[in-house]
Amino acid sequence: MVDAAATARGRVLSVASECVPLLKTGGLADVVGALPKALAAQGWDMRVLMPAYRGLLAKLPGAVAVWSGTDVFGGPARVMAGQVDGIAMLLLDAPHLYDRDGGPYTVAGADHGDNPERFAALCWVAAQIARKGLSDGWRPGIVHAHDWQGGLAPAYLRFDPVPDVKTVITIHNIAFQGVAPAARLVSLRLPAHEFHADSLEYYGNISTLKAGLVTADAITTVSPTYAEELMRPVFGMGLQGVIAARAARVHGILNGVDTEVWNPEADPLISGFSARTLVRKAANRTALMAEFGLYDVPGPLAIIVSRLTDQKGIDLIPAVLADFVAAGGALAVLGSGDAQLESAMRTAAARYPGRVGVRIGYDEALSHRMFAGADAVLVPSRFEPCGLTQMYGLRYGALPVVAATGGLADTVITANPMALATGAATGITFHPTDALAFGQALRRLCQIYADQPLWQSVQKQAMKQPVGWETSSTAYAQLYESLIP
Ligand code: ADP
Repeated sequence: MVDAAATARGRVLSVASECVPLLKTGGLADVVGALPKALAAQGWDMRVLMPAYRGLLAKLPGAVAVWSGTDVFGGPARVMAGQVDGIAMLLLDAPHLYDRDGGPYTVAGADHGDNPERFAALCWVAAQIARKGLSDGWRPGIVHAHDWQGGLAPAYLRFDPVPDVKTVITIHNIAFQGVAPAARLVSLRLPAHEFHADSLEYYGNISTLKAGLVTADAITTVSPTYAEELMRPVFGMGLQGVIAARAARVHGILNGVDTEVWNPEADPLISGFSARTLVRKAANRTALMAEFGLYDVPGPLAIIVSRLTDQKGIDLIPAVLADFVAAGGALAVLGSGDAQLESAMRTAAARYPGRVGVRIGYDEALSHRMFAGADAVLVPSRFEPCGLTQMYGLRYGALPVVAATGGLADTVITANPMALATGAATGITFHPTDALAFGQALRRLCQIYADQPLWQSVQKQAMKQPVGWETSSTAYAQLYESLIP
C-alpha cells in the first residue's frame, strides 16, 4: 500500500494501443489490462489511455469527457473516462483517426497509411495529460508507454520536459518498431533537431520505438531472458546497440496471467479440476478430442493456440508430425495468420485424419477448452518476449514443450533427469529452434507420458507454479518507486 502523500506520486498513466477487455490482438492487450488491476490492488492509482476505435465507446457506458483538444493531429478530440472490468479507462475519441473500417492497425491486409500519426496523437495527448492534467484534477507522476505505439510519449515528454513526470517504456515485441519516413517529422510534431543517430533517427527513417527507448527514464521488457537477448543482434533486430547502451536502465520483468480468468477450478468454460482432482481433467480431454474429430490415442494430446507466423515456429510442425503421430500422439491446432502456414496446418490435418485437427480462426472460449483437455502445449518459437500460452499450459496441467528462448526459458523447468529426480520439472525445453531439437523434445514428452505416475507428478508441479501477477506487479511497483524523486 502507498500512503496518502505517496498516492499523488503513485499515479500512473499507461499508454497503449490495445487493452483487454476492450480490444485484443495479442499478449500486449492481456498485459495492459492485467497490470493496472494488479497495481491498483497495491494502492497505485492507475489509468489506461487507448484509442477509441470504432464501437469502443459503446463498451464504456456512462463515460465522461475529461479532456478535449481542437487540433489533435488533424481534428478535434476528447478523452472519455469510464470504468471497465475494474480498470480506469481513458479512451481517446478522435474520429478522424480511429473511427474507420478495418482493425486497429490494418485495413484489408495493409497498414493504415497514417498509423504513425494515429499513434503519435495518442502519445501527444498522453503528454498533454502529464503536463496539464485532466479536468477531474488527475495528473500522472509516471507515464508508462507500451511498444512502438506508445514510443513517442516519453519522447514528447523529453523534448518538452515536465520535471515531475517520469517515463517508462515496455517492449512487448521488438519486431514492431514504428518506422516512418523522415519526411513525417512535421506531421508527427517532432523537433527536426532531434533527427540524429542518438535520438529519433533509425537507418534514415524515424522509429517511434527507438524514440521511446532513447528518451524514457526506464525500459522494461517482459522477461529477464528477453532483456538479455535484446542486446544481441539476432534478437535486438537493429535496436540491440540502443538497448545495450542503456543496459543499466533495462529491466526484465516477467508477465503474469490473469489467474481468475485462467483458473481450472473455477473456469466456467470447462469441467473444473485442480491438482488434487486431476482425474477430472479427463472429461475435458475426451470432449476436446471429440470436438476436433480426433481418435483416442495412446500418447499425449498436444495443442497449439497461436498466431500462425514464423516467429512462433509453426513452419516446424509438419516436419515433426510423422514421428509424433507414430509415437501415439495427437495434435489440435487453433490459430490464424500467414496464409501459407494456415494452409500447411490444413494439409497436416488432411494427412493425419483423426490424429491432427485444425481450426483456423480466433476463439477465446475454445482456447480454454483446449488447455483444459490437452496433455501438452507446444510453443516452438524462434523468439518469444514472454509468451502466455505456456503459462496457461502450466496452470491447466498441459505440459509446455517450448523453445528455450525469452520468457519460455524463464517459465518452464525442463524435465531432465535431475529436475525429475528433485520434482522441479514442469515441462520440456529445447534448443535450438529447429525440427531436430523439437522432434527430440516431443519424443521425450511421449516417454514421460508413458510413465503415468511420473507424468502426473510433473503435471502437479506445473500446476503449482505461480504464474499470476503478484511477483511481477511488485517488481513494477519497485521500479515506479525508484523513479519517483
Ligand atoms: P503473442 O502476443 O506474440 O501473440 P502471447 O503468447 O504472448 O503471444 O499471447 C497470445 C495470446 O493470444 C494468448 O492469450 C493466446 O491464448 C491468445 N491467442 C492466440 N491465438 C489465438 C486464437 N487463435 N484463439 C484464441 N486465442 C488466441
